Amino acid sequence: MTTRLPDHYAALGVSDGASAAEIRAAYLAAARRCHPDKTAGGGAASADASSSAEFQQIQLAWEVLSDERARTEFDAARAAASAAASAAAVKREAAIADEIDADDMALVEASGAGSVDHLSHACRCGGAYTLPLAGLKGGARHLVECSSCSLRVRITVPADWDAS
Ligand SMILES: [Zn+2]
Repeated sequence: MTTRLPDHYAALGVSDGASAAEIRAAYLAAARRCHPDKTAGGGAASADASSSAEFQQIQLAWEVLSDERARTEFDAARAAASAAASAAAVKREAAIADEIDADDMALVEASGAGSVDHLSHACRCGGAYTLPLAGLKGGARHLVECSSCSLRVRITVPADWDAS
């Protein structure tokens, strides 16, 4: 799922709404600019490896975009990839609701059986994120889930954290 789709429009420097004529003109201009036969002259072969790779991209872009059916398929794949990317971004966003510094959390002292001293931070749902105080190390980061909803926060313990 992480296969990166080549961007044929970018390769030709046209927008995704470009007409067939615009694509053809862009292809001809790009091909003239970096065709291997043209740039490989004078024996400076090494300098042309990148323009040759670029030419291949341009050639491939042209083959896809000049073919109506291939272009339609490419557009669909591109739209799907972009939707997947933004869905993944939203998911990443939702995964961590907040970044909290341990210094900014409230210290809650043990109050009953089985309870331990811990740091607490209120969640917007009314629940709380809690982190046991024992064993906290300076510089550590903890991913903590809310006690009553599915939100999570990342708690950063300051490097100079003093457990006492
Ligand atoms: Zn919550």
